[in-house]
Amino acid sequence: MERVYNFSPGPSMLAEPVLKKAQAEMLAYGSTGMSVMEMSHRSKMYTDIYDKAVADLRELMAVPEDYEVLFLQGGATQQFSAIPLNLMVKGKADYVDSGNFAHLAAEEAKRYGEVNIAATSRADTYTYVPDLSSAAFDPEADYVHITQNNTIYGTRFVELPDVKAPLVTDASSMILSEPMDVTKYGVIYAGAQKNIGPSGLCVLIVRKDLLGRANPLCPKLLNWEVQAKAGSMYNTPNTWGIYLAGLGFEWLKSVGGVEAIEKVNIEKAQLLYDYLDESKLFKPTAQAKYRSRMNVTFVTGDADKDAAFVKAAAARGLVNLKGHRTVGGMRASIYNAMPVDGVKALVAFMKQFEAENA
Ligand SMILES: *Cc1c(COP(=O)(O)O)cnc(C)c1O
Repeated sequence: MERVYNFSPGPSMLAEPVLKKAQAEMLAYGSTGMSVMEMSHRSKMYTDIYDKAVADLRELMAVPEDYEVLFLQGGATQQFSAIPLNLMVKGKADYVDSGNFAHLAAEEAKRYGEVNIAATSRADTYTYVPDLSSAAFDPEADYVHITQNNTIYGTRFVELPDVKAPLVTDASSMILSEPMDVTKYGVIYAGAQKNIGPSGLCVLIVRKDLLGRANPLCPKLLNWEVQAKAGSMYNTPNTWGIYLAGLGFEWLKSVGGVEAIEKVNIEKAQLLYDYLDESKLFKPTAQAKYRSRMNVTFVTGDADKDAAFVKAAAARGLVNLKGHRTVGGMRASIYNAMPVDGVKALVAFMKQFEAENA
């Protein structure tokens, strides 16, 4: 059976060479005579896989030595709890509420301390990222949390807030899609199922001086210092997920790394937004300045037409274009693994649909 172009927001497409390599190594990895899934996480054969994944991610993102790279479980959502548990020393944090996940992160943090919503676009259905220059950041905050790409609404931060407290970013739907200056952050975390690998895994990059501040009641598994000392293996990690993430890092290096993929990502997003800007049928929903390069949201303005479009596209092998259940419309998620040809095929089909349904 032929593969489709999968525009799912997550879990999402993986690069074909990654899947093929995993397939080729499924029964016996190297000379080990066993699948990666069957290996002890403490064995040399597995720790080699782990160490290479960490080293490749460090290289791809130019992670400085004074940062730890961890592969944790529970996705990005688990970190919504882990962040306040690890960082709230004075018991206060700033959150920028720029989307559904940002909101959930702030709501969870409220269980552990005082949360100041420094800026929000919630009242405007998150069609933009709130203005940061007028945001009310608390100089006493333990950290400032942002969600750098808003997966559901299709918006991205075009600049970072200028704050003194450590900046914590949920980079789930933008990590590795463009260069990030790691030194600007205290913590970068990302669920893997968008730009890294399979779900259930979360990459966390944390500045070492932020370790050792955890609330005494912080569960051991969520304690970054504990996990850093254990090399992400306080308990059995998601061994298979880390292996696949590692294959993804190898693939990204082979196509030129983050700077090269950023160019491709800009090209893909431009193809879609250029067409949306001229279309008489489809309208982009995010404010132009804040348009995401990863999640492109649009509507026809007619729910029946939206549904007809999503159905007709799926019949052409352009699948998972339905918008999030909370907002409706359409969303094309075009992460690193989506080839330019997939976006070209989508635009060609949108033009045809427009001609037939205008
Ligand atoms: C997908 C996503 C999440 C949730 O990730 P899980 O791995 O399901 O916990 C959180 N934040 C952002 C920005 C996301 O895109």
